[in-house]
Amino acid sequence: MRTVKGVLTVLLILFAGFALVLVAQRAPLPKSPRLYVFDCGRLEGGDVSRFRLTRQEMATTDMSVACYLVAHPRGTLIWDAGAVPDADIDASPAGAEAKRYRIVLPNNAERFVTSARTLKSQLAAAGYAPADITYLALSHYHYDHTANANLLAASTWLVRPVERDAMFAAKPPDLLQPSTYSALRNSKTVAIRTDDHDVFGDGTVVLKWSPGHSPGHQVLFVKLANTGPVVVSGDLYHYPEERTLKRIPTFDADEKQTAASREALDVFLKQTGAQLWIQHDFNANAKLKKAPAYYD
Ligand SMILES: [Zn+2]
Repeated sequence: MRTVKGVLTVLLILFAGFALVLVAQRAPLPKSPRLYVFDCGRLEGGDVSRFRLTRQEMATTDMSVACYLVAHPRGTLIWDAGAVPDADIDASPAGAEAKRYRIVLPNNAERFVTSARTLKSQLAAAGYAPADITYLALSHYHYDHTANANLLAASTWLVRPVERDAMFAAKPPDLLQPSTYSALRNSKTVAIRTDDHDVFGDGTVVLKWSPGHSPGHQVLFVKLANTGPVVVSGDLYHYPEERTLKRIPTFDADEKQTAASREALDVFLKQTGAQLWIQHDFNANAKLKKAPAYYD
């Protein structure tokens, strides 16, 4: 009897130790918010007249595809999920050359994205697994922001009802890739009905409604202790020239709304002194430090 008890005790201690090691391997939540930038590829611009721009007006027609992780004392948030699903990215050894992927949309339009690393591997390098992610928020529903949404279906999805309704409509709008986010249908979901949604309740991470590009389009505000406040743009702008030359894409759901959202954001940027990070701005994004480095 004694021996059985002894063995059980030893097993229990071993199990507890193993569990501790498992827990210890996960990155602890930080004392103040951190913003990680992941490289989710390079999207070829194609026909830039869709943005009411000409090649001559632009520094580059390439777009960065960026995904982000906010680590906050009360949990984690992934902002946007890339253009190429992890499953499609070959498990290339680190340092291997990036590959060019052809994305075919339901209306047969095609896009080309060059990508080297999965979102999951970059998340792991920062110390997190998909199961550790508290919240998922997408700036909007287009394919180049949803690729790995299914990977995060166990997180709580923060979404505007008007956007969710369009995503699961019988006939979704163009530029959507429903297979990449189908699992979100059954995710725990917070339907955001206010312009601003304070994710962790302390004002440091806020989703701001900025409709026009899509009906439920949002931008991400993060207040960082050392870096200062940052707004991550979603696709309120794609190219920096849209901002300087005041051009609005031809394929926005509502151009007037886009113009109003841009004006409102300018006021907000002035009030807060926040920097604006345009997610698809290739040259600006190239200068940002990438995970596992972070902004705090
Ligand atoms: Zn986009």
